Amino acid sequence: MLTIYNTLTRQKQEFKPLKKNKAGLYTCGPTVYNYAHIGNLRTYVFEDILKRSLLFLGYKVKHVMNITDVGHLTSDADTGEDKMEKGAKREGKTAWDIARFYTEAFEHDIAELNILPPDIYCRATDYIKEQINLIKKLEKKSFTYITSDGVYFDTAKFPDYGKMANLKNQELKAGARVDMGDKKSPNDFALWKFSHPLLASPSGRGRKPEPTRQMEWESPWGVGFPGWHIECSAMSVKFLGQPFDIHCGGIDHIPVHHTNEIAQSEATTGKPLANYWIHGEYLLTGNDKMAKSGDNFLTISTLKEKGFDPLAYRFFLLQTHYRKQLNFSWEALEAAQNGYKHLLDAVANCHPNHGSLQGVAQRSPVKMGGIDKNNDAKISQKFTSILEDDLNLPEALALVWDAIKTKTISQKTLFEFDKVLGLGLAEAIKSQSSPLPDAVAVLLAQRNEARARRDFKASDELRAQIEALGFEVKDTTQNTQVTKR
Ligand code: AMP
Ligand code: ZN
Repeated sequence: MLTIYNTLTRQKQEFKPLKKNKAGLYTCGPTVYNYAHIGNLRTYVFEDILKRSLLFLGYKVKHVMNITDVGHLTSDADTGEDKMEKGAKREGKTAWDIARFYTEAFEHDIAELNILPPDIYCRATDYIKEQINLIKKLEKKSFTYITSDGVYFDTAKFPDYGKMANLKNQELKAGARVDMGDKKSPNDFALWKFSHPLLASPSGRGRKPEPTRQMEWESPWGVGFPGWHIECSAMSVKFLGQPFDIHCGGIDHIPVHHTNEIAQSEATTGKPLANYWIHGEYLLTGNDKMAKSGDNFLTISTLKEKGFDPLAYRFFLLQTHYRKQLNFSWEALEAAQNGYKHLLDAVANCHPNHGSLQGVAQRSPVKMGGIDKNNDAKISQKFTSILEDDLNLPEALALVWDAIKTKTISQKTLFEFDKVLGLGLAEAIKSQSSPLPDAVAVLLAQRNEARARRDFKASDELRAQIEALGFEVKDTTQNTQVTKR
């Protein structure tokens, strides 16, 4: 029985899916105006552990992740520049090119960390119609009002506003500097923003505006673009229904983004949006949250340039529970990389099928020196119950180390556990033991170069050539693993 901490109820709860053995999972995805930093990636690794654990425990998971490619403004108070347009100016490209480039970069980054891709990626710009329809429904139910710069959700009309975050009515969100504009309350939030505020007046509506933005659409209220939160409400429900099982993100989403998603979705239908809200804690540098706005953030490429394996970073993350803050330092990562290498060596030395009974087990399968052949099964049970207790990965790793040290676990069982850990154990060991043919090694070297200069098109072509030679390419350990099919 899986118990998991639900931010809605602020306690660990038994996970009861809506449909037996199935789990609908929505995770808020990246805003693709820059590379994901390793703090963002901490959240995606935690969500991957959750998803892998559900799969391990026998659930069929439908995982949806959005790609925010419009509408996320530089301030949570619905003011400031659209991050996409900001990225476009910074790089002298179109907002569409920026979105495409950083979406691809994100997909490569998560592959490096052995994060399973979602079943459905949905871009906000592909579902504008759904977002407009949702706003129309809210308007019909009188939850909206129009100001000079957009259509806003009227939080005063939704008595439960801020319940998950424990926000009191009209209270300012912690730490937020709120520019009220024409809003009635600081908590009210934009559902639709006008490209050109003057066109909000009845006389202005319907006129073609001067292009002030690259991304804009017609709507019943004027030309503009959706607010940030509405995309997640529209797309999660489109693919998972309402309610669905689990909604995830980083803890910074609790007071604003998720609070607003809940308000607009529940106001529309009267039903909860999701039954379980699960949030991952911050990665810190010094005492500060790592943030993209700081512009001095670290990416997976930075780690690789300094000689770190992305999977060593994954290993570093798994050693801290997802609900605890984690301080990043190069020394700590170095220690994790050493630990990870040590783990790979230790796994390579385990017996393939039995807890270290190496041959003797065949002759005396029941008991030997206090270890019986059911050890693997016992350890598996323990591993499962540790996972079921709010995904206690640090304890799961301690169990693995202990079993390796006492030689009571087989590779077979470790590879089973790696379905959750995602540390590429089987691939690492396979590639340690079988050298690649020259033709494959040359293509692999070319692909590594292409990836280093972030030429993903060339890298994908080279991957296809390697695969055509009968090898599988996985961007996991030591940058890339290539194994015979
Ligand atoms: P963004 O691309 O800014 O929309 O953020 C993507 C995800 O990263 C969200 O789930 C955030 O909550 C999460 N996030 C942002 N900063 C951090 C951090 N320093 N540590 C952990 N997660 C973070
Ligand atoms: Zn979201």
